[in-house]
Amino acid sequence: MESIKVTLSDGKTVEVRPGTKIEEIAAAAGVRKTAIAAKVDGCTVDLASALDKDSALEFVVADSPEGLAVLRHSTAHLMAQAVQGLFPGTQVTIGPTIQDGFYYDFKSDRAFSPEDLEVIEKRMQELARADLKVVREELPRNEAAELFRSMGENYKVEIVEGIPEEKVSLYRQGDWVDLCRGPHVPSTATIKAFKLTSIAGAYWRGDSRNEQLQRIYGTAWANRKDLDAYLKRIEEAKQRDHRRLGPALDLFSLHPIAPGSPFFHPKGTIIYNILIQYIRSLYSRYGYSEVVTPLIYKTELWKTSGHYEAFHDDMFLMQVHDGEYGVKPMNCPGHCYLFASRKYSYRDLPIRYADFSRLHRFEQSGVLSGLTRVRSFAQDDAHIYCTPDQLDHELEQFVAMTKEVYKVFGFDRIEVTLQTRPEKFLGRIELWNDAEAALRRCLERSGFSVAVLPGEGAFYGPKIGFDFRDVLERSWTLATVQIDCAMAERFGLKYVTSEGSEATPVMLHRAVLGSIERFIAILLEHCAGAFPLWLAPVQARILTVTDDHKEYAKKVLEELEQGGWRVELDGRNEKLGYKIREAQLAKIPYAIVIGDREVEAGAVAPRRRGGENLAPMPVDALIQLFQAEVAQERGEA
Ligand SMILES: [Zn+2]
Ligand SMILES: [Zn+2]
Repeated sequence: MESIKVTLSDGKTVEVRPGTKIEEIAAAAGVRKTAIAAKVDGCTVDLASALDKDSALEFVVADSPEGLAVLRHSTAHLMAQAVQGLFPGTQVTIGPTIQDGFYYDFKSDRAFSPEDLEVIEKRMQELARADLKVVREELPRNEAAELFRSMGENYKVEIVEGIPEEKVSLYRQGDWVDLCRGPHVPSTATIKAFKLTSIAGAYWRGDSRNEQLQRIYGTAWANRKDLDAYLKRIEEAKQRDHRRLGPALDLFSLHPIAPGSPFFHPKGTIIYNILIQYIRSLYSRYGYSEVVTPLIYKTELWKTSGHYEAFHDDMFLMQVHDGEYGVKPMNCPGHCYLFASRKYSYRDLPIRYADFSRLHRFEQSGVLSGLTRVRSFAQDDAHIYCTPDQLDHELEQFVAMTKEVYKVFGFDRIEVTLQTRPEKFLGRIELWNDAEAALRRCLERSGFSVAVLPGEGAFYGPKIGFDFRDVLERSWTLATVQIDCAMAERFGLKYVTSEGSEATPVMLHRAVLGSIERFIAILLEHCAGAFPLWLAPVQARILTVTDDHKEYAKKVLEELEQGGWRVELDGRNEKLGYKIREAQLAKIPYAIVIGDREVEAGAVAPRRRGGENLAPMPVDALIQLFQAEVAQERGEA
């Protein structure tokens, strides 16, 4: 009898007749209960699909990335089925998976409320328990269009008509059907752990000129435990949200008068400036020279750099008397003019220009968010111009500096990415190849394991990113280094080589913190507002027990302030316990209690933010304690 060979992921092969369903092979392999889909030659498919040729087969379980994607999209279908059952007349549009969940966009006359979500969720649970088989069907495109037209699903008709293939697939569960590429779970009973999370407005095809839709978001997981852990993480993220904590701790605020452009309050500005001072202190050690360059340029500058074409919509441009000007969205083109302002020989290189200048980008209002997506920001930006021979050393030094900075901030979970040439790129391909090879060499020596993201580089050069994973398991790219394959040539930059000829320098873009605004947001959420002593805007608050202690407290305040410490005095006539709690809520690293005993002994009684009471000590000893703590935090101890 004719048979086909199926190679399983453990290397074993089984012989089956053509047309055998994957679920049969799963049953024979004893994984019928745990598999929710399968991968055939790398493509995810339904368990009910049949094999007709030799194939490599891998079963997909619910808690794998592919499994979760299938599960989440199936949960979106379940939700749509529930919504349409509960609210007749509602039309479905699209319902993709997103990170950690899914959504579905509906057209409905009813404005969905949070109470509706509970009702929908309940209905979903019933449909899941009903164990409805999820069945795939294939139809000619025009028949599918006819079917959806008869159902009054106008958006689906529009989608079907836009599909180039002659055949389209549908998925049915019970009496509900949706146009869908799939794959899906075998039955609604596979869906066990989900929650609807929010409602938002949306537009058909994401275009604000189209009809308004209602989007319901949800999350789904392989099991109850994972769902609960996720919901806890979301709750924790809400508590730590910098958009809530920032104003609450009096660090910054935003106002519609300057969309996406934060106002840093005095306390926030202290953090801002300390971060810059800290990076400055490294610059002197790593051989960077700080420069100040113009904010506004004639747009020729970006026409030369290539940004005007690629970045035009994201720039603040203005027409003045003698032509078009723009506010800089990045420092690099200006630094190229600076480099070209004098002649350099190979002996002068590398040149490392550091610039903390304010930058402006016209981010769309819809994407603006707290300090993470802003229109006005500064970076710890620098550009390095070097000879090809110096490139490896420059990259190595950059990695060393990044490691040093991450250690100070306690960023120990780092993932490194290498982003290579995109389809659309500037510059010569040889330069790209050399640059990517240099980045690979650097990463090999660094000891980091690296994920390569093909085609994800910037249009002007490949890039290394150092992603940091925060306490909420979110990944943030902070430090980046890029080798520019285009800009130095486009600006005609030259240096004199050891042979006396002229050559184009290699140009690097690099930042360690990235945008200072975004860095503050990430750090704020990571430490939940409890900044380490060296960064805390208020390092200590002096608390008097009664009015009698005020005079001595003022002396202590002065002494600490004179030593350069950031200290406040709470001399209010309130109970000590209340004042301690307030200092705790303000996340101040030290509360310094002054009562009879302290006044008598000429001492202070420090109390750490976590609640630990230290033995009373003279102010000198407290200053030494602070100094030692700061030195340790900054890696200087
Ligand atoms: Zn679907
Ligand atoms: Zn740059």
